[in-house]
Amino acid sequence: MNRAKCPHCGVKLGNYAYADACPHCHEELVHNTRLLVATPKAKSPKAQSWLVRTFFRIVRCVES
Ligand SMILES: [Zn+2]
Repeated sequence: MNRAKCPHCGVKLGNYAYADACPHCHEELVHNTRLLVATPKAKSPKAQSWLVRTFFRIVRCVES
């Protein structure tokens, strides 16, 4: 379900319903930008951060 109106100024988004920012007030449309980033993390935030930390540790070991 997408919101047809901007939550900040209430302008009808129309073709901008999936845009990153409102075309009228230029505020970030959180329901669009957060979906892509937050959805995979929401499943297992602890496992994700552990994986990321381990990954960077490996990268650092390889680089040094
Ligand atoms: Zn707006």
